[in-house]
Amino acid sequence: MANFFRDNQDLRFYFDKGLPWAEIASLSEHGFRAEDGLKDVEEAKSFYRDVAESFGELSANVIAPRAARLDTEHSRIVDGNAVEAPALREISDAMRAAELHRLCIPRELGGLNAPLIVYMMGGELLARGDVSIMTHFSFHGGMALAALAFSVREGSTTFDPATGRIEKTRFSSMMEEIARGDAWGCMDITEPNADSDMAQLRTKAEQDPDGTWRISGQKIFITSGHGKWHFVIARTEEAKDPNDPFAGLAGLSMFLVKAYDDLPNGEKKRYVTLDRFEEKLGHHGSVTAALSFDRVPAEIIGKRGDGFRYMLILMNNARVGVAFESIGLGEAAYRAAKEYAEVRRSMGKPIARHEMIADMLDEMELDLVALRALAVRSAYHEESAQKLGIFSTAADAPPEEKARVAKELLRHQRLSRRYTPLLKYLATEKSVEIARRAVQIHGGSGYTRDYPVEKLLRDALVLPIYEGTSQIQSLMAMKDTLMGVIAKPQLFVKRMADARVRSLSSRDPLDRALARVNLNALSATQFLMRKTAEGKLKSLARKPMTSWPKAFAKDWDPKRDFAFAMLHAERFTRILAEEAIAEILVAQAKEHPERRIWAEKWLERAEVRGRGLLDEITSTGERLLRKLAEDERGGDLAIAAEE
Ligand SMILES: Cc1cc2nc3c(=O)[nH]c(=O)nc-3n(C[C@H](O)[C@H](O)[C@H](O)COP(=O)(O)OP(=O)(O)OC[C@H]3O[C@@H](n4cnc5c(N)ncnc54)[C@H](O)[C@@H]3O)c2cc1C
Repeated sequence: MANFFRDNQDLRFYFDKGLPWAEIASLSEHGFRAEDGLKDVEEAKSFYRDVAESFGELSANVIAPRAARLDTEHSRIVDGNAVEAPALREISDAMRAAELHRLCIPRELGGLNAPLIVYMMGGELLARGDVSIMTHFSFHGGMALAALAFSVREGSTTFDPATGRIEKTRFSSMMEEIARGDAWGCMDITEPNADSDMAQLRTKAEQDPDGTWRISGQKIFITSGHGKWHFVIARTEEAKDPNDPFAGLAGLSMFLVKAYDDLPNGEKKRYVTLDRFEEKLGHHGSVTAALSFDRVPAEIIGKRGDGFRYMLILMNNARVGVAFESIGLGEAAYRAAKEYAEVRRSMGKPIARHEMIADMLDEMELDLVALRALAVRSAYHEESAQKLGIFSTAADAPPEEKARVAKELLRHQRLSRRYTPLLKYLATEKSVEIARRAVQIHGGSGYTRDYPVEKLLRDALVLPIYEGTSQIQSLMAMKDTLMGVIAKPQLFVKRMADARVRSLSSRDPLDRALARVNLNALSATQFLMRKTAEGKLKSLARKPMTSWPKAFAKDWDPKRDFAFAMLHAERFTRILAEEAIAEILVAQAKEHPERRIWAEKWLERAEVRGRGLLDEITSTGERLLRKLAEDERGGDLAIAAEE
């Protein structure tokens, strides 16, 4: 029987030896202290592998054969309620029967307690069958875990310090319902006039005299918005300073809304109105809903005004999840392209042996291995950060152990924060590129519905858009990197000097190549810092010199001061992402010599790409920035004339 896990050697590497399973399993199983938990690492590994096998089998035999039907049969709204497309229904039933929705939910809440990373890698396998199925799937267990994370953060979850098990948590009945496969959740942020710019969100939450919160407004583009449990971001306070573009973020709060009640006669009593399901280019197995709220009762989560912070908790996981979706889709596209290229002949040989096609296939395969390495690492750090965060509040441990955990927690948080935007950016952009190349390799046939690749390209196009667009990821990566240099300039200088030395004197050519990739990234950082500092000096020219030290030491406004860096943020992010992958693959090669080939191949391509991107950053941009500044001055003058 076909199995997408068994036929994927690279993914199997991570289950065999590419991840610190003892550490991951111990963290999930609370040090194997619980009586009803797994006994030891070996039992845990065998369970995780079984899970991956089930994902692989289900995706290959239930999802992939229905992918074409998912593309043409669409879910609809009938009499105000959702009627799911038949193929989607069949797949959902199979997933419920396989108990996949309870996978990551803690055992004490009816789940199987598997680590998030197993779920994420399973997600890749589902996405290879059909990416929109993975998207919908993630709004089941993923939302239950979000509820748990929210509850831990607001302090409404308690743990047994001896076993680490949850004693009580606020959203337990919702989590149990999701674990059974009877409901799912969704995340309602986007509105007709606001998403990337969340400060503009207008949906309102008001409190009745009896304390009940009620939500009114419209949300659009809500994935799986026909579900029961909605996390809704709504405004509880107006922005204090109308001139500050970020002030509106402080007035947002997070709410839980039940969209409907299930009545004993099988009908639903609805509180949230399903306005429409969006008609999209692809991604048809995933419902995307527009919703109306008219004084719908809601429960506030955390404190008033903390909504943006709560949303960020959810976003990191979700972004890593989208990267695994992208890799799964890319895997399907690469395999379809390879298979076609080996059979299709042109000018006396299979097209796979024509140099340009061979080069494309080589790069597609390499990109998938590289992205998976970054994705697996990001998921590992994100999960470790989350779980250690929960544990450090729960564990009744001696001070030295607490200090060790705190240090580890910081390390995982730092790496997760570094990797997540880079991963979301590169994985989603590459999935589009890989799908497009798969169409190209199929020639005219690729443009027809006779082959699966045109659907893959349509499905891929949304990946760089949702869960924070590529541009928003780039801004985050760029600002974090530059602010890091501003905070610790000595460390940056040391890293630069160190990379120079390694590029010349390391004995292993792999290390020298990695140092050159590091130098590309550091040189780009240095150049952007220099341009940023020049801009800052210009902006200070008319201000008293006494204000300069503070302006340089503390007073940095990324929006105002980083114009040049913003223009190049995508190029810079690509360099940073490729550097991160290079570091991970080289570390893998040191530990597992059979992986050296991937590190070598990646460095060969990443080094020259980095040089090209660095060249673009250092040679272009000024002309456009001058034009933007002139346009802005023109706009200001026009406004002044009107006033
Ligand atoms: C299929 C699908 C499913 C979705 N699911 C959900 C969901 O479950 N929940 C939810 O709340 N939302 C969801 N969304 C919405 C999605 O998150 C937003 O569409 C996305 O974040 C972009 O926001 P926007 O559409 O408002 O575009 P805009 O914010 O208007 O952006 C338009 C373009 O401008 C760019 N841009 C914006 N600001 C900047 C800047 N400062 N610098 C440079 N470029 C910038 C963007 O990158 C983009 O290219 C979904 C969307 C789709 C298509």
